[in-house]
Amino acid sequence: MNRVTYDAVIIGGGMSGLMAALALAGKGKSVAVVSKGDPVCCLSTGCIDVLIHENNPLAGIVSLPENHPYRLVGEETVSASLEMFIKIMRGTQSPYCGDTGTNRAILTPMGTKKITCLVPRTMEFADCHSDEYIHIISFNNIKDFYPGYITSSYQNSGRSIFNAEVTSTAAIAERFEEEEFRREFIAWLKDRDIPDGKIALPAVLGTRTTGSIYDEISHELAKPIFEIPTLPPSMPGLRLFRTLKNTFLNMGGSIYWGRDISSVEKLGTQLEALTLSNKGRATRIQGKAFILATGSFVSGGLYAAMDSIEERVFGLPIHMPEERKHWFKENFFTTGHAIEKAGIQVDSSFRPVDAPYENLFACGSILAFSEVMKYGCGHGMAIATGFAAAQKCEEYIQ
Ligand SMILES: Cc1cc2nc3c(=O)[nH]c(=O)nc-3n(C[C@H](O)[C@H](O)[C@H](O)COP(=O)(O)OP(=O)(O)OC[C@H]3O[C@@H](n4cnc5c(N)ncnc54)[C@H](O)[C@@H]3O)c2cc1C
Repeated sequence: MNRVTYDAVIIGGGMSGLMAALALAGKGKSVAVVSKGDPVCCLSTGCIDVLIHENNPLAGIVSLPENHPYRLVGEETVSASLEMFIKIMRGTQSPYCGDTGTNRAILTPMGTKKITCLVPRTMEFADCHSDEYIHIISFNNIKDFYPGYITSSYQNSGRSIFNAEVTSTAAIAERFEEEEFRREFIAWLKDRDIPDGKIALPAVLGTRTTGSIYDEISHELAKPIFEIPTLPPSMPGLRLFRTLKNTFLNMGGSIYWGRDISSVEKLGTQLEALTLSNKGRATRIQGKAFILATGSFVSGGLYAAMDSIEERVFGLPIHMPEERKHWFKENFFTTGHAIEKAGIQVDSSFRPVDAPYENLFACGSILAFSEVMKYGCGHGMAIATGFAAAQKCEEYIQ
């Protein structure tokens, strides 16, 4: 029987849950993260989209609808949360760069541009201009990377292909962890007569020691180098997730991964414990407060039945468009589908509205009115609401 009572139990180990966990652990609180599986972050580019339709994403927050989660957090706290994120990543093998007040446009594997705000340092030079030369390095039979699209969009470009003897991005990234492989790759690159300009390659620069690999190759070639995120699952997203999870563990946090919640205990308006299903004995996790960060439909935090939408852990009330026929626009390939507004409504203390619990908080893409696709605010909103929910949770438990 687990007799520890954690200060906070976070349900869901995605960007929002891990940011809430890190914020609370950083304040000396005992924290457990309970997660059914790996989060959406592992499918992402690893870039932090804050609000893509404005040059200055922070300044754009005031013009969002009043019920958007960013409006509840407020510009100042959004900014503080992003600074905290940058600080956490600084001391790791996946440091981030960028200015929280300015968006940038990075190159995609299709040769188009993606607007984002904070990027892994390996993408610092990915904001390309048509007048500069870009040399694309590709790999024999690599999946999910299309250098031909890039070179056809950029007149001033060229490409070379290296044989890594493996073809998936994950396998190539693993090869970059080998010193001998890197030596061979660098020697091959030096032998190419690459004109002055930038060198770009798919995001395969390692899995664990990316910062050191990037520094070594940049130093040897003495040219600006950058990674281009590949299609999901992409290495930068995986690196980001693993770095946050390991940082939390290194701070003394507890993690219960890969198990379902089988029951919830409550006493009056207090949640007391969760029980995790197990093949052998069940695990009971007690907490003074709980933060729900189980994500949206992709991760199963929300579940769409025929005419209703359910929250899976507590059965909380959900804001949803009334009839199923109004969930989607006729043109599916546009943003702003009504279903994107579905989720849990929270008050200014990040407690779910109309829920009977005083020690439950919620954050991340499970929140109503987030419209992550429409506003391009995925990780940014997860970071900001995770941070804000942690602040409210801390006020409650102290
Ligand atoms: C394909 C794709 C690419 C994206 N790319 C980008 C990008 O490049 N940049 C960007 O900023 N945003 C991107 N986004 C959006 C962004 O990834 C998400 O908005 C954000 O990561 C959501 O974080 P979250 O913590 O709210 O939820 P999630 O990442 O969904 O995490 C929820 C976690 O809760 C767990 N969970 C669910 N149910 C339970 C349960 N019952 N019990 C315990 N645990 C549970 C899940 O296993 C999961 O680990 C992308 C989204 C997708 C789908």
